[in-house]
Amino acid sequence: MVRRVRIHRASGDSAQNEAERTNSAIGDALVDGASLRWDYFEPFEEMSREEVQELSSKEVDRLKSETMQKNAWAVSNEIRLRIDDARDPAGGYLHAYVTEHPDNHFFWNGKYLKRFCESSKSEKNNVPGHGYFNKIFNFIASHIEQGELYLQYRKYQCRLLGQECDFCKNSQNSNLFGNELMPPVPRPYPDYEQLPQFHYLQHKDTPTSIDGVQRRPDDFQPRSNLKKLFSEGEISSVDDNEIEVFSKKFIVPKQIGKNYILHMETLKSDREKRTIDNQQKRQDEGAKGYEDYDWVDMFENNCIDKLTVSILDKYIIHKQLGYFKYKHEKVQAVKRAIASNLVVEEELADDENDDVVMEQYESESELDSEVGSVSEAGSDSEAGSDSERDAINHSASSDSDIESGITPVITTRSNRQIRVPSRFHDFF
Ligand SMILES: [Zn+2]
Repeated sequence: MVRRVRIHRASGDSAQNEAERTNSAIGDALVDGASLRWDYFEPFEEMSREEVQELSSKEVDRLKSETMQKNAWAVSNEIRLRIDDARDPAGGYLHAYVTEHPDNHFFWNGKYLKRFCESSKSEKNNVPGHGYFNKIFNFIASHIEQGELYLQYRKYQCRLLGQECDFCKNSQNSNLFGNELMPPVPRPYPDYEQLPQFHYLQHKDTPTSIDGVQRRPDDFQPRSNLKKLFSEGEISSVDDNEIEVFSKKFIVPKQIGKNYILHMETLKSDREKRTIDNQQKRQDEGAKGYEDYDWVDMFENNCIDKLTVSILDKYIIHKQLGYFKYKHEKVQAVKRAIASNLVVEEELADDENDDVVMEQYESESELDSEVGSVSEAGSDSEAGSDSERDAINHSASSDSDIESGITPVITTRSNRQIRVPSRFHDFF
């Protein structure tokens, strides 16, 4: 058979469709009773507990997301193994593949293609590779007809636009149609004489044009037409007569049509609810002032990135942080300001509590040197005197720590230099 037509009738009416039957065969192969293992890799499996403790929150997030990706690749391979070689609906065997890892893709220009598609018309020509992309997209536009779940390529279709492209001109002609534009594949057309039985006309009787006008894609595709009617407000799930008329015109069982309308109604009401909720949220937020937010709590729970620009502005204006054009700059400015304030607060508390903070650092450093002397004790007989010298030079060594920049240091309002606690390191 030279031509093949594939048409989705409506959701829930899958038994007559090759693609749906294949999906169902994949489902059978996949759900074999065994559970899917997910945790092939752990985020910190090759690290010591000390190394894990030294990680910043950003590094922890990065490791977790990398591990998630590794696990997803491992699971997709297990899925492939389950599906590969299972029986297919035509009596053969299914072949399953896992997509190549992005790093191994032969085509490296995916990100340019994405940029090309997202750019405005005038911007497109600034994207690297635009000549090649333009050529492909122009070819698609002049040779391929598309519908909701339908796509048809015809050689010489470019002639309909009054041109003939090099590809059609120079490539070999088929034996069947020579250098003529091949007629379109007749898309299913209802056989109304067989009602109430639902049948399409036989292939040989199916028209490609009606009254001299070529049929448009999707003209009898039930789902696409139901969507259109619904969006125009012409049909609803309580409108029994309309559903009846639709069912006969597009030869699709009434209940299936109704189910799809119900589905669209649910989506629509969800959408409306979300819009109302968002409006309410915006109104509530508009009424709130700087004092109504627990900025430190939001900062410590990593919520600053998720705030809207208008909320960030409340902090920026209140604290007079200056002007920032982009959201990421505002986020960074707010985070940095909160972090600095927190450090200053700790430092003020430290003034009151007789250098509690510095003592804490000192005791940590002492701990370091003790650990050092224990591990060196066997090989170094002067370990004891070393640690004594450490103790004598203690303040000097912490100064050099500050200078070497291992620990970020900020100058507080009282002109004192203090080290930033590790949980704030990301912001400096
Ligand atoms: Zn052409």
